[in-house]
Amino acid sequence: MMQWSASQQRAWAALNLGPVWEPLPRSGSREAVQPNEVLRQGATASQALSPGGSSSDSPAGWAELRARVADCRDCPLGHQRKQAVFGSGSTAARWAIVGEAPGAEEDERGEAFVGQAGRLLDAMLASMGWSRTKDFFITNVLKCRPPGNRTPAPTEVAACARHLQAQLRQLEPLALLILGRVAAVHLLGGSAPLAHLRERIHLVGSNAREIPAVVTFHPAYLLRSPQDKAKAWEDLNRFAALQDRATEALRCAGL
Ligand code: SF4
Repeated sequence: MMQWSASQQRAWAALNLGPVWEPLPRSGSREAVQPNEVLRQGATASQALSPGGSSSDSPAGWAELRARVADCRDCPLGHQRKQAVFGSGSTAARWAIVGEAPGAEEDERGEAFVGQAGRLLDAMLASMGWSRTKDFFITNVLKCRPPGNRTPAPTEVAACARHLQAQLRQLEPLALLILGRVAAVHLLGGSAPLAHLRERIHLVGSNAREIPAVVTFHPAYLLRSPQDKAKAWEDLNRFAALQDRATEALRCAGL
């Protein structure tokens, strides 16, 4: 079980959010939380900092997690991919981005978000003054490319969930930016359309272990529907406001 440092414990006590991740919800995460309420939500500090919860994946270092993904054949995609795509960005980041699945260029290069959609994501992040290499860890719900970039099957997503769980337990991000409906449905449960999910802050997780999350469009969708870029900009600003509140809480706690 992951051990929390004293500074991490003080941070989470200050945020009153609860530890980050144990385990991913399969359905029914809470939603419709108002942004100005998020940092008041969650368990008490003692609940939040309890190391309770269990996982079938014991904590592992990043190298071990990478090796697990690289070797994984837990669903048929493992036999069709060129290479698994673990994720990219900073493993010390406070923020995480979770998308759907690798595309052709990611499959070829073994890196997340390097195709046309990845370049748009870079531009979106840069427009907010964020660096994908320093500020975020970026990964997908699915680590292997579905043939023809089809929508991932629920069985594939379920088979791959343990890898994302392990990554987020390792990273302990303060907030999640969720890209697209496939990732949103997996992380938040339910079947609401993306339009209903975008304009609120969600708490992802279960029991006392929750993490605030904002949902926005997948960049691949925005390439096809550029008229929605303005809405994506609103979402990024919503996420930025969440970051500000978390950062301020940490500052007030002297962290
Ligand atoms: S998609 Fe996930 S579960 Fe399936 S083989 Fe790849 S890493 Fe394993």
